[in-house]
Amino acid sequence: MVSLDTPVERVPRISKKIVSPLKRLGVKTIRDLLFHFPSRYEDFSNEKQIHDIAVGETVTIRGVVKKIANRRTARKHMNLTEAAIEDETGTVKVLWFNQPFLVRNLRQGNAVSLSGKFVLGPGGPYLQNPAYEKLTSYRLPVNQIHTGGLVAVYPETSGISSRWIRFLVKGFIELRKQLVDTLPSDIRKTYRLTEVHEAVRAIHFPKNHEEAVSAERRFIFEELFLVQLRVLRDRLRLKQHQAPEVPFKKELVKKFVSSLPFQLTDAQRRSMWEIFQDIARPRPMNRLLNGDVGSGKTVVAAAAALLAHAAGYRTAFMAPTEILARQHYATLEEMLSPFRVNIGLLIGAEKRAGKNTDVVVGTHALIQRNIKFENIGLVVVDEQHRFGVEQRARLVISNQLAPYRTKGSSVGLPVTKFLPHFLSMSATPIPRTLALTVYGDLDLSILDEMPPMRHPVVTKIAEPGRRQEAYDFIREEVRGGRQVFVICPRIEPNQKSQKSLLLAEIKSVKDEYTKLSEEIFKDLRVGMLHGKLKSKEKEAVMQKFKNRELDILVSTSVVEVGVDVPNATVMMIEGAERFGLAQLHQFRGRVGRGADQSYCFLFPTEDGMITRRLRAVVEAKSGFELAEQDLKIRGPGDIFGTRQWGVPDIVLKGIADPEFVRAVRHEAIELLKKDQTLSKYPELRKKLEEREKTIHPE
Ligand code: ADP
Ligand code: MG
Repeated sequence: MVSLDTPVERVPRISKKIVSPLKRLGVKTIRDLLFHFPSRYEDFSNEKQIHDIAVGETVTIRGVVKKIANRRTARKHMNLTEAAIEDETGTVKVLWFNQPFLVRNLRQGNAVSLSGKFVLGPGGPYLQNPAYEKLTSYRLPVNQIHTGGLVAVYPETSGISSRWIRFLVKGFIELRKQLVDTLPSDIRKTYRLTEVHEAVRAIHFPKNHEEAVSAERRFIFEELFLVQLRVLRDRLRLKQHQAPEVPFKKELVKKFVSSLPFQLTDAQRRSMWEIFQDIARPRPMNRLLNGDVGSGKTVVAAAAALLAHAAGYRTAFMAPTEILARQHYATLEEMLSPFRVNIGLLIGAEKRAGKNTDVVVGTHALIQRNIKFENIGLVVVDEQHRFGVEQRARLVISNQLAPYRTKGSSVGLPVTKFLPHFLSMSATPIPRTLALTVYGDLDLSILDEMPPMRHPVVTKIAEPGRRQEAYDFIREEVRGGRQVFVICPRIEPNQKSQKSLLLAEIKSVKDEYTKLSEEIFKDLRVGMLHGKLKSKEKEAVMQKFKNRELDILVSTSVVEVGVDVPNATVMMIEGAERFGLAQLHQFRGRVGRGADQSYCFLFPTEDGMITRRLRAVVEAKSGFELAEQDLKIRGPGDIFGTRQWGVPDIVLKGIADPEFVRAVRHEAIELLKKDQTLSKYPELRKKLEEREKTIHPE
C-alpha cells in the first residue's frame, strides 16, 4: 500500500529513472510530491472550436487526429511532427518540434485535447508545439490535466518535466485525504484559509484563478506561521539561557566616540544604543546589524567589543575571508588599542593571538581549529550570510560554551547555559518585511544612513560599442594615480566544445586578464584575482592592489565583500546582467570610499540586454531600495540569502505584504502565549520539529 510517507523509490508506479530527478527537487516521499507546488500556471482556459480560432491566440481545442507523421526539416537537424486535427467545425494543422516519440503516443483516430499558440508560418497557420493529452472521447465533458483551464507548471530539473510531475501528482492526489490540517481551525476561520485537502487539490488542479490564489495563500500562511513559531520559540529558548551582563559605561563610550576621526551618524548611534541595551541584560543578544556597504558597521561592533572588554569579557570577531579578517584586525587595532584592548588575529596558518588577546579576529579558522578562548562574552560575525547556519552555530559550540540553539528536545525546558551575546552584521540589504519575518522588530538594527561626505558613485550602463571610451576613461583615471576594478562573471573561458549558440561569450577573468594586460593596457600594471587561487596568492594580489603596486585588478566576485581600497575609483562590471542586484550594489560599494569621484560601469554581455534590473541599479539610492526593487522585478528567489534562514520559497511570495506578515506573527505570538509547548497542537508541533531538524546543526 502506498501511503503519504512511502519513499518514491518504493512506489511501483514511479519508474526508476525519475527517482533521482525527483530527489533533486526535494521530493522524497509521496507527501513531498503533493507539497511540490507549481511555480506558475499556464492559462489554457481559452477553449474554442477549430473554426473560431484566430492567429496569435493561445487556445485549447478538442478533436480527432486525422493524420500524424514525422518529417525532417530542410536543415536536417530537426524533427517535425505534423498532424491534422479535426472537430465538427474544421481542421487545423499542428506542428511539434523535436518530439518524434509523439507519433507513438498520438495515433490516427485518437481523441485529443491540445493547448498552444496558433501562429502563422510560411505554409499557413498552425498550432505550435501544443501541450496535449488523449481523451476517451472529445465530445464528453473531460477532466484534463495537461490542457485546458489553468495548467500547473512546476519548478523543473533535468530529467523530469512538468508534464511528468502533473501526471504523478494526479495519480496520488487522492492520498491528500490522509493529511491532517496543521493550522488551528479557529485561525483558519478567522483568515478564511482553505482547508488542507481542498488546498492541495486546488493548488495543483485549480478550476479557476481564484481557487489557485486562495490555495496558495493558505500555504503561504502556513509556512510563514511555521517560520514565525520557530523564530519565536528560538527566542524564548534563548531567553532561558544566561549571558554575561555587559554594563553600559557612559564615560568610556564618550571617550571612544570622541577618539574617532569622524562623527557618528544618527543611525550608528541608534544601533549602538540598541546593542548596549541588549548586552547589559543577562540574556543572550541575538541581533542583526544590517547596513549598506560603507554605512559603518565595524565601528558599531567595535564599541560593543570595547564595553565587553571593560566588563572583563573577550570578543570573537569572525570574517568570511582572510582579506577581510586582516582588514578588521587593522581597523580594530587602530580604534581599540588606545583603550588597551589587545587585538589578535587567527587565520589559516597564522596565529597572532594568545593569552592576553581581548578581541580575536579570524576566519573559519576560529571554529575549525577548535581553539579555546575562555570567557568569550560577545561574538561578532561579519557578512553573516556568507556563513551557513551551521558554521555560525559551531562558532559558539567550539568555544565550549553551549550550542547557539539547543539540540534534541526542543520543547522541553533546556538546561540553563551560559551563552555569549551574538551580533551578526550584513551588508546584504534585507527588505523590511523579510527582516521582520526572520528577526522580528526587536532584534534588528538598521544603518539606513550613510556617513556624510561621500560622493555617490556615478553609475552608467555601457553599451558594448562604447567599450573603447570606457578604456580611455580608465587610462585617464590611472594616469591620475587612481585604481580600477574589472569584474567578470567567470573564471575560465567558455569551453569550445560546449560553446552555445544562444549564449554570447561570457567574459572570463583569465581571458580578460590576458587581453587587458597584453593588449589594451600593456603599459599598466594589471593583476588577477579569483577563487581558484590559493589563499596566500589571493592575499598577495590584494595586498599589492592595496599598496598601489597594481593599477587594475581583474577579478571574480571574490572582491564582493568589504574590501577597502579608498584609492580605487572605477568599478567596471562585465556581464553585469549575470549578477544579482544586491551583488552589483556590493561591487559598486568597493569604490567611492575615498575623497575622489568614483564611477561604476555596467557592461551587459550583449547589446539590448539593458534590462529594468540594470536600470534599477543605476537609479537606486541605497541597497535597501534596490532589495525592494529586486523583489518586485525578479519576484522572490534566493536573492537575499534567505535559504540560509531556512525560509521556504513560497513564503517569499507572502513577505511582500507587511500586513500579512504582521497578522501571521500576531497569531503565532498568541498561540505561544496560550500553549508554549504546543501540546494541544500535536500536528503543528510535529511539523515544526521536522523543520527544526532540517536546519539545526547536527
Ligand atoms: P561597512 O562595514 O558597513 O561596509 P565600514 O565599517 O567598513 O563599513 O566603514 C566604511 C568606512 O567608513 C571606513 O573607512 C570607516 O572608517 C568610515 N566611517 C564609518 N563611520 C563613519 C562616519 N560616521 N563618518 C565618516 N566615516 C565613517
Ligand atoms: Mg564591513
